[in-house]
Amino acid sequence: MRTILEPERYREAVEESEKKFRHLAGLMPVGVYSTNEKGYLTFYNDRAAELWGRHPRLNDPTELRYCGALRLYNPDGTLLPRSECFMARTITEKKSFRNKELIFEGTNGILREVMVNIDPVFNDEGRFTGSITVFHDITRSRQAEDDLRRLASIIDSSQDAIISRSLDGTITSWNVGAEQIFGFEKNEILGESIATITPSIYEDEELSLIGKICRGESVDSLDTIRLDKNGNQIHVTLTFSPIKDSRNRVVGISMIARDNRDQMQIRRQLQVYNEQLKQLSQQKSQFIGMASHELKTPLTVIRGHLEWMALESQTNGHLHNNASVNKALIHIEKLSDLVSNLLDVSKVDQGMLNLNPSTYRLSDILLESIDSVRSTEATHEILLETDCDGLEVFVDKQRIEQAVINLLLNAIKYSPDADQVLVRCATDGKNAIVSVKDYGIGIPPDQVDKIFVRFFRVEGLAPTFSGLGVGLYITKEIINRHKGSIWVESTEGEGSTFYVKIPLDR
Ligand code: ADP
Repeated sequence: MRTILEPERYREAVEESEKKFRHLAGLMPVGVYSTNEKGYLTFYNDRAAELWGRHPRLNDPTELRYCGALRLYNPDGTLLPRSECFMARTITEKKSFRNKELIFEGTNGILREVMVNIDPVFNDEGRFTGSITVFHDITRSRQAEDDLRRLASIIDSSQDAIISRSLDGTITSWNVGAEQIFGFEKNEILGESIATITPSIYEDEELSLIGKICRGESVDSLDTIRLDKNGNQIHVTLTFSPIKDSRNRVVGISMIARDNRDQMQIRRQLQVYNEQLKQLSQQKSQFIGMASHELKTPLTVIRGHLEWMALESQTNGHLHNNASVNKALIHIEKLSDLVSNLLDVSKVDQGMLNLNPSTYRLSDILLESIDSVRSTEATHEILLETDCDGLEVFVDKQRIEQAVINLLLNAIKYSPDADQVLVRCATDGKNAIVSVKDYGIGIPPDQVDKIFVRFFRVEGLAPTFSGLGVGLYITKEIINRHKGSIWVESTEGEGSTFYVKIPLDR
């Protein structure tokens, strides 16, 4: 039954309810506004003004009609003429519209995606008096949806399997990569247990990792085995990370599986090649060893004959013959040094460079080495500075002499414009330290590290510097076998100093 109110009471009641409506609209987190029957704004709340970015004037025929936004666009970004928007159509067609999407542009140029609901308003007599529109900002949720879509397409374009699972092991997501690696389609595996692809012997391993992740500990990736749909074993690298909810609680685990089958095959192939290479290298060393050994015997015989001839020519006064024979002897000496070096390389390669150590005075070894070099090389003066008179070392004398002679011959060979080599000997109490310094061509800094490598020779060496690139390789091995060390300090164009450190402790 309708209650008829006094006109005065009726006006008060209308004013009261309008006040309540405005209050209510002011509290609402959505934009609310009304228009008159011509579409001019008659009311809007703060949220509406905020979303439009402006405060339009009310009941003003010079203001924009149907909506406070400066411009309107369709969801696809095309401009929407104001007279065609849903709010205008409500005025012309007197129709409601529900959940329509639009884009509003405010004075500040900010675009907002909004969802609008519009109703026409009729008075008690049924006459059309305007419209009411409620709208809310969906920009963020649209962006979140876009981000999600982008993420999903990244996940699906990955060749790795990206899988998520709940803490009880139920598979909750499965990308295209997972379908390709494991052979299960998404709809076959979602909701199944992760045990479907985990061989039982690896279940504990996975459980312990999951435990660590839940405790917030970091977990390294894991090379392991999983099963495909046909039960075949697949070599995979697994990387785990926690999935957390908005309250930072771990609610699941995401797992990235990289298929290592190709890599494993390449690794196996590489192993085979390595093995073959090792065998070839061994054969080469054996060959060098054998060839040098074979060459040594005829060389020794030739040297013997030459020495006999030299003696005979001296005795018979054939000085010319004597000089030739001596020259031949020098070259035979060089040849047998080369052969000895090659023989040593093959011994080093095969781990057969044996030592025969005993106690010697270091200065004796150095003096003998220097004398031996002086006898053949007259171009340089070799100076010896020693702080270790009487210092004894437990070494293979022949081998240490060989090492020192190598360094001295190099110092002379690689300093053609100098005339001095300086040998120093000192001790730090625990080691004997011998250095050989020259004033020669030096070594380029980018190649210093390589000079102890077998057959290495500095790039761009003048052809006058003959050699096989094995002297330092053998020298380093000799020093290493004595538990010592060898290194070089060098400046290109100024010279080099080689240091040898040998422990005094037997
Ligand atoms: P090589 O028979 O070539 O001298 P080594 O093994 O004795 O072989 O030396 C390796 C390379 O190191 C040499 O070819 C040379 O380029 C460089 N080298 C060695 N000693 C010196 C030095 N005292 N000064 C400059 N370069 C040197």
